[in-house]
Parts: sequence; C-alpha cells; structure tokens
Amino acid sequence: MTGLTSAEAARRLHDDGANTLPKTKGRHPLLLLLEQLIHFFALMLWAATALAYIAGMPVLSVAIAIVVVLNGVFAFAQEYRADRAAQRLRDLMPARATVRRDGAPQVVDASELVVGDELLLEAGDRVCADGEVLTAAGFAVDESMLTGESVPVHPVAGELVHAGTHVAEGEAAVLVNATGPHTKLAGIAALTQEAKPPPSPLALQLHKVVMVVALTALAVGVLFFGVALLLGLPATQGFLFAVGVTVALVPEGLLPTVTLSLARAAQNMASQHALVRRLDAVETLGATTFICTDKTGTLTRNEMSVVKVWTPAGEVAVHGDGYDPVGTVDGPPAAVDQVRALAVSAKLCSPKAHVRRSEDRWQPVGDPMEVALHVLAARLDVDGPSADSIRYPFDPRRRRSSVVDADGVHVTGAPDSILPLCAARSGAAEAIAALAKDGLRVLAVARRPARAGDESGWQHAERDLELLGLVGLHDPPRHDVAGAIASCRTAGIKLAMITGDHPVTARAIAEQVGLLGPDQLVLQGDQLPADRDELGRLLDHDGVVIARVTPEDKLRIAVALQHRGHVVAMTGDGVNDGPALRAADIGIAMGASGTDVAREAADLVLLDDHFGTIVAAIELGRATFANIRRFLTYHLTDNVAELTPFVIWALSGGSIPLAISVLQVLALDIGTDLLPALALGAERPNEHTMRGKLRTGSLIDKTVVRRAFGVLGPAEAVMSMAAFLIVLHLGGWRFGQTPDTALLAVASGTAFTAIVLGQLANAYACRSVSRPVTKTGVRGNRLLGYAVAFELAVLGIFLFLPPLPDLLGGHAPSPLGWLLALAAIPAVLLADAASKAVGRRLIGR
Ligand code: ADP
Ligand code: MG
Repeated sequence: MTGLTSAEAARRLHDDGANTLPKTKGRHPLLLLLEQLIHFFALMLWAATALAYIAGMPVLSVAIAIVVVLNGVFAFAQEYRADRAAQRLRDLMPARATVRRDGAPQVVDASELVVGDELLLEAGDRVCADGEVLTAAGFAVDESMLTGESVPVHPVAGELVHAGTHVAEGEAAVLVNATGPHTKLAGIAALTQEAKPPPSPLALQLHKVVMVVALTALAVGVLFFGVALLLGLPATQGFLFAVGVTVALVPEGLLPTVTLSLARAAQNMASQHALVRRLDAVETLGATTFICTDKTGTLTRNEMSVVKVWTPAGEVAVHGDGYDPVGTVDGPPAAVDQVRALAVSAKLCSPKAHVRRSEDRWQPVGDPMEVALHVLAARLDVDGPSADSIRYPFDPRRRRSSVVDADGVHVTGAPDSILPLCAARSGAAEAIAALAKDGLRVLAVARRPARAGDESGWQHAERDLELLGLVGLHDPPRHDVAGAIASCRTAGIKLAMITGDHPVTARAIAEQVGLLGPDQLVLQGDQLPADRDELGRLLDHDGVVIARVTPEDKLRIAVALQHRGHVVAMTGDGVNDGPALRAADIGIAMGASGTDVAREAADLVLLDDHFGTIVAAIELGRATFANIRRFLTYHLTDNVAELTPFVIWALSGGSIPLAISVLQVLALDIGTDLLPALALGAERPNEHTMRGKLRTGSLIDKTVVRRAFGVLGPAEAVMSMAAFLIVLHLGGWRFGQTPDTALLAVASGTAFTAIVLGQLANAYACRSVSRPVTKTGVRGNRLLGYAVAFELAVLGIFLFLPPLPDLLGGHAPSPLGWLLALAAIPAVLLADAASKAVGRRLIGR
C-alpha cells in the first residue's frame, strides 16, 4: 500500500470538507444574558424592585432595577469572555494523525484526514475517523467512549473501527471510509450536545461563600427591618434599610469576576505553552506541593542519538550531527561488523521511524529513540529487509519490542528485560554500567537467527535469544531545566523523577540537571513497599529518583503522596498512564510527544513538553489564587464600610442619622467598585509568588477575614463616619436631632466620598498581603491605574451631575469635607502598613 497522493488527499479534503465534528451550536448570547438576569440573586433583587415600587419608592425601585441589569450585563460579558477563552484553549489542543501518503508515513492534522487515507494507528492513539482495518498487530481498541463497554475489542482485518475510540494496544493500518460529520461519533455527539460539564470544585466553593454571605445579608436585612419597626419608623422606611443592607452585602459580582480571572490565567498559561483542560485546574496548579516528572523529553530534549555501541566483539563510537543519516563509526572491524548486524535488527524493530529533510535540517518522524536507531542503520549503510513480518510493539511493562520475519526474531528494549532471555551475556553488565554512568540511555538488541515454528504471541517469540549488543543513546538535558528546578525549591515544592529507564542512567541525568536531592535516594519500581503509608513516607523527600517504574507504580505513587497531604502533579505520556494522570491532582500530558489517551486524561497539556513550562504554570496558578483573594478582600472591606452606617443608626436607636443612603450603597457596588476589583484580578506574578510555600486551603481564610473585617474595613468605616459626624457637627447638628436636609446631603456626600477614596487606597493595599504600599509601589498594574481613574471619574459624576446628587442624597463636600474625605487615603494605608508590620513581626520575617 502506498496510500493516497498528497494532491489527491488535498482534492478530497476540498470536496468532502474537514474531518471535524459539526460545531455544536452554543446557546444564543441573548439567552445567556437572560440567564444572568434571572438567577437567584437577580430574582431576589427583582423582588426588592417590585416591593419598592409597591411601597411607593419609585426611585429606589428603578435604581435596584438598574443594578440588576448592569450586574447582569457585566456578569454576562465576563462569562462570555471566559467561555470564548475556554473555546480557544480547546482549539489549541493538538490533534494529529499518522497517515501513509505518497508511499511514506506522515503526520498530519487530524482535521485533514480524508476518505481513502491509510491511517496508521498505535497504542495510545485516538481513532479520529471511521474505517476498515487493513492489517493489525496485537491490536486492541477501547470503545467505551462509544458503547460504554470497558473490555477492549480486537478488530482484525476487514472489521471496522470508529472515530472517538482509543487504541489500547498494538497497531493497525486502517482504510478511512468516513470522516467528520459522517462518522458514527458525529451522530452520537449530536445527541449529547446539551451535556454541560459539572461545576468545578473552585466554583462550588465560591458558590458556597456567595450563598453564605447572601443569606447572612438577607437575615441582617430582615433584622434591620425589625429594628426599624421597633424604633417606630414607618414600614416603608424600615424596608428601605433592609434592602440597603441586603444589597450592600450580597456579593453578586464575585462569581463572574473569579471565572474571568481564571480564564485570563488560562490564556496566559496557553501563551506560555501550558494548556489547562479545565479552568479550575489553574487554581489547583497553584497549590501544587509535589511534582513527579518523567525524564525523557521533559527534563531532556528527547533528541536521541546513538553515540556508542557495545558488542561482545568490542566497542564502536558513532559520530554524526543530529539525525543526519550520514556519519562515521570507528572501532575494531570485527565490532563494526557486529554493529551492522545489530543495526539490521534494531531497524526492523522500528519500522515507522524515519527522517525527513526540511528547513535545512534532518527532522525525526516517529519516536525519537527509534529514529536514532534508524539513523544508526543509515550511517552504517545497512538496509533493513522488510519482508512480511509479525510485530509485537513496545509496551512499558514488557519494556521491549520485537519483530518476527523469515530469518528469525529481532528484539530491542531495556537491557534488564532482554538479558534474561539471552544465553550468553558475559561483559554485558559491566558495559551497561559504564554506558549508564555517562547518562546514556541503554538499549539491548538481540536476535534468534531461526524461526521456532510457533511465534504467535510475544511470549513464544521472545525467547532463546542471542545478544547482539548494547546501544548507548545520548539525550541532552534541556538547557533551562536547572533554573526551573531551583525555582521549585524556593517555592517549597518537592520534586521526584519517575522514569521507566535504568536507575544509573536516571541518576546521572538527575545529577546533571540538579534534581537529585541531598539524600541521593534512587529507588526502583519493583522495590517500592506495598504499603501505601510506608511508600508515602519513603517518597516524601525532595529530589528522589525512581527508576524502572511501570504505569501501575505511578498510580500508587500519586495516591501515596496524596495521602501524605500533598497536592500532586504527575506527568505521563503513555497509553497506560491515564489512571495515574486522573488520580493525580494535576495530571500533565505531553502535547508534542505524548499519546492522545494521556492528553485526554490530563488536566494540563504541555505544548512544548518542557519541565520549565510546568513551573511557569504553577507560578501563574499561584498568582491567580492570590488575585482572587485580593479582590475578595477588596470587596469585603467595602461591605464593612457600607454596613457600618446602618449598624450605627440602629444601635443609636436612630439618634445618629444614616450616613449613606441605600442608593449610595448601590452606587458604590455597581459604580465605583467594579473595575478596581477586576484590575486586582489581573495582578501579575511577582518575585514573591514563588517564594515559600503557598498557604492554600479555602479562599476565605483567617488572613482575608482579619484584613477585611479587622483592619481595612474598620479603617475605612471609621474615616467615613468621622467625616460624616464632623460635617454634621460643624453644621450645627447635635446628637438626637434630625438634621436639616441640605446639611444631611452634604454630610452624606462627604461620607460617600470618604468611602470611595478609602477604597482607592484599599485597592493598592490589597496588592500584597505582606508588603505595605510603600514597598509594592503604585506601579506594576496598569489596569489598576485606569480602574482608579475611572473610579474617580464616576465619583465626580455622582457628586456633580444633576440630578444624581439629589437622587442619591449626597451632595459635593465642602473644602473642609474634601480634606476629611481625603484623610481616608492615608488612614487606610497606615492601618494597612501597621497591620502588615505586626504580621511580619509575628511570623518573624
Ligand atoms: P522514560 O521514563 O525514560 O520515558 P520509558 O518508560 O519510555 O522511559 O522506557 C523505559 C525503557 O524501555 C527505556 O529505557 C528503553 O530501554 C525501553 N524502551 C523505550 N522505548 C522503547 C521502544 N520504542 N522500543 C524498545 N524499547 C524501548
Ligand atoms: Mg518514555
């Protein structure tokens, strides 16, 4: 089979269309907007609107209606943007397929598959079109996606495979007979279109926070209504207070702000080659305390080249540039002859690998290690015969692959999996040790020069072997891995290297990149204790190397560490890594080299397979978590300042008039507060983000509560109440009197201004939980600058643009009033700086 020609494939693609499922029609934006107007809080506020109208307060009624609509539009805009961001992330997810075209295997975008293509599948691939099996070797397909049946099926030549299923084992060539909308999957997808993903843990936690606050608000509101009635106020007035208190406290804008800030973080991560598959993974990433990383491709470049070959007849050095098929070998002639024989077998075991020249370089196609073997054969000028053969592809448990052809059996794989199958192996152990010590990956190649009759099943084929030799492969470490590892250490994140490779090779690489910890712990998968707690204790060190690990070991390691209280990030790329990736808090798959199965089980996909990208994503996750708490603190502080006038009014039995009106509370919530909160959500990671462990746990913890309710909120409240009372007093009002309307309006305007200005200071104070504004400075977040400018402009409008001052009940302050209101800025900053100084002393920094 030679497959289609590229020209024919292009023509069919043009005629039949792309191999993609028809886009599920999202819900209409207007419908989404409507949803924002009729959720629980909105309904609560609509009820208030109606009641206010019935109670004869049309202005309040309209004002609340405006709040609901503005809030809804705002929430809609944020969620819409977040949705679009998530959609873009999905589009970035790599989807590739290997096809035979123009007589050679090629990797193409899965969307470019056409009917008539010869699709080459191997373990871990997602089948991306329907087709008929042409040839199959140890081929098993997991159809659970389509049928719910969890036992893999074994389609043979002539049988069908369907898009959406996964290759569990083996390989096959498939003739594509339906693509895109014509596949069986498309029919099913149309049925399941409506399914919405379940809410994330973060969303649930936030929802709880919002619910508790809202219900508290409602209860307080009702309480105030009672107090007002007791004080002998008319019911309408009491109602007004109740609504004011409730509206002041309900954090209706919080959820969309959080969603948007997660979406923004996800986008930032994507631009750094880290693709999160669920938005809340952003937050979990930030909380990571233990990274289990593999070696090949993540810490190293996965650019393999054979540099040394050991044979029983002597050692040969191989020279050449990258994957260039032209190179030289040097060693004793007898050894070179033996290496030729070895290269024949090794090449047979890697039939799919080859090199292609593009952009003036030799590029590998297929598994880099197999390509390196292919290049070795080319450099020795050997041409592997490719007669009819049975293949038993590599699997990470057996750790070898084999081919049976007319001449016998050829096996390539990890030395410890092959040597036991060989009769003579003197000198091999020493040779392995020497190669591995240099950080070389060692492969053994063996052969049985005759067929034995029954070669069905690898158990029968892979026996009675003759060792041809050992291949030492060089795979250089990635250049900036050492820096990323160091930054994990300052962040208090522990690291372990988990690899299927030889312990000595693993150790050498761990040393080269600076991963190996002080206790130099190098373990092997088959020596790990069976007991979960014992395993957890053993591994709970920084810089552990675990070699010869199977996918099952990975799963046990993830679970054991989680039981030690760790938030575990685990990388994986193989077909059997799915369970470990799912079990880990953050499963990380490789976008460039990993299998589709691993990618679909992962929470994070590294588009560049780079360890440094994991660390960059963790940093962004941490920054986002901090941002969410920043604007939570900002919001809650405002609530304290808004609620205080109502409490004082109630506690004084009405002897102290209300400092701010309900409408002013609404103006604060919806007018001046929105943008700074958003801007705080866009705060960038700084040099403190990766310093020390992250205090994780719930969003609202002691620090948030202490700062909002103990420091910032009271400072702001005191300043605005003081400004209010001083203006009243200077205007002639005395305790217990009812102030004159004009005086009250100016005093209210002053209190209102004090809160807005206090919030301005608060926004800057919230940029850090430990450093005062004198340290953080006011630069570094341009959005916050704009937000504050906007906040001041809106303040001006509320104070000066008729009829707003009359409607809100707050007139522009007098010059002295301005001074009093301005004093809120230094007051908030001072309170903040003082509490941070005390905090620093307490934790001794
Ligand atoms: P790593 O953690 O370094 O990616 P793997 O689990 O992929 O290790 O591989 C484990 C061992 O199996 C390797 O050291 C190598 O000896 C052998 N091996 C890996 N890939 C192949 C292959 N395609 N064919 C034969 N043997 C292989
Ligand atoms: Mg590997």
